[in-house]
Amino acid sequence: MSKKDYSKQDAKHHLHPFSDNAALARDGVRVMVKGKGIYVYDDEGNEIIDGMAGLWCVNIGYGRKELARVAKKQMDELPFYNTFFKTTHPAVVELSAKLSEVAPANFNHVFYTGSGSESVDTMMRMVRHYWASLGKPSKKIIIGRWNGYHGSTIGGASLGGMKGMHAQGDLPIANVVHIEQPWYYGLAKDGESADDFGIRAANWLEEKINEIGADKIAAFVGEPIQGAGGVIIPPKTYWPRIEEICRKHDILLVADEVICGFGRTGHWFGHQAMGFKPDIITTAKGLSSGYLPIGAVLVSDKVTEGLLAGGEFNHGFTYAGHPVAAAVAQKNLEILQDEGIVDRVHDKIGPYMQKRWHETFSKFKYVDDVRCEGLICGFTLVKDKATRELFPDFGTTGLMCRDIFFKHNLIMRACGDHMVAAPPLVITKKEIDTMLAIAAKCMREFEEKMD
Ligand code: PLP
Repeated sequence: MSKKDYSKQDAKHHLHPFSDNAALARDGVRVMVKGKGIYVYDDEGNEIIDGMAGLWCVNIGYGRKELARVAKKQMDELPFYNTFFKTTHPAVVELSAKLSEVAPANFNHVFYTGSGSESVDTMMRMVRHYWASLGKPSKKIIIGRWNGYHGSTIGGASLGGMKGMHAQGDLPIANVVHIEQPWYYGLAKDGESADDFGIRAANWLEEKINEIGADKIAAFVGEPIQGAGGVIIPPKTYWPRIEEICRKHDILLVADEVICGFGRTGHWFGHQAMGFKPDIITTAKGLSSGYLPIGAVLVSDKVTEGLLAGGEFNHGFTYAGHPVAAAVAQKNLEILQDEGIVDRVHDKIGPYMQKRWHETFSKFKYVDDVRCEGLICGFTLVKDKATRELFPDFGTTGLMCRDIFFKHNLIMRACGDHMVAAPPLVITKKEIDTMLAIAAKCMREFEEKMD
């Protein structure tokens, strides 16, 4: 098949996720053929900076041969075996031990899945099973947040707070409710400090609990930093107050770390950056740096004890703990550890990115709420900084801006009118400078268009 044909053939047979496929078939797609470090290459030979690490997942960067070698070795030895019926295999045993090593001390058990959505669905069934095991089957409502993203399965899409997703297919399912997101820039009152807003936003959880009754609620679930919702970084007071409320009302606290986990925030897990202690952690993406599909639900000792008391948990996926994916994830975690990548984000490259991100974007007329934690960054496109007025039809302007970046071979993403970036954690200072120089050029072009 010739180069041009890939795009044409793609339109004939492939339905893309989160895409208007009719428009895509008309406009064509870019065909990515190779990756190295922070770069991907298309079939026309363009070198593109991947400011999104794929889909927030290629933490160690593209092209690490060690992972390919490990995958081949495992495929040669044992390409598949399940873990359902009194069996296990070395790859999954070793990965479980490694996860217990990098997770907080009270996390010593893991349930495997094939993706972030499966991790979230597993968690939703697990928290209900936990309470039923403890003789409290009425505790089954799960509270999520508007604008949260927890995947595309029926459970994950229900728990997420994306109204566009709810509108398709009668979501959310029963026993899933939402509270407002902790978005200081958009929701604070005049003169309210970030700290005060953080407490007020957390108290929305307590109001919801009082409305429903704690005896009916299984868990509260949130991303430490909302990713697909536009990199919403809550004020520092938010999560500690959420934890206090969950403890007071005996509700499980779940951190969805599918994006924040494995170094993105400069800590192994995002909850450590945000200062709270969850009972369950859902993960995927950075667990294997996206090299193979694998997810994991990390379960604290407290929750494990309840689950063990409950007998059989009637849940599991064929590919749970897949040997090849497990071996690759294990190697990925070793690389993150041995090369000190998480510490480097915390001590060096994260602070550099934050400084340069603010310097680059704050000066633009249509940009406000510039924010960055670790290597997860965002800003919001606004019509008027003085009044914080947003552009009409939230999201349209963001897509236009994103397309300018893409044209100039820089991948950033528009989440509504929030522009976001989350590059591979191995990005260098020089690469950050290059990336942001292109971004500044794109923003000038964007602003000229808007004037
Ligand atoms: N949870 C969070 C926080 C996510 O960001 C995502 C994906 O972006 C998911 C869950 C779903 O993961 P997946 O796309 O692997 O199913």
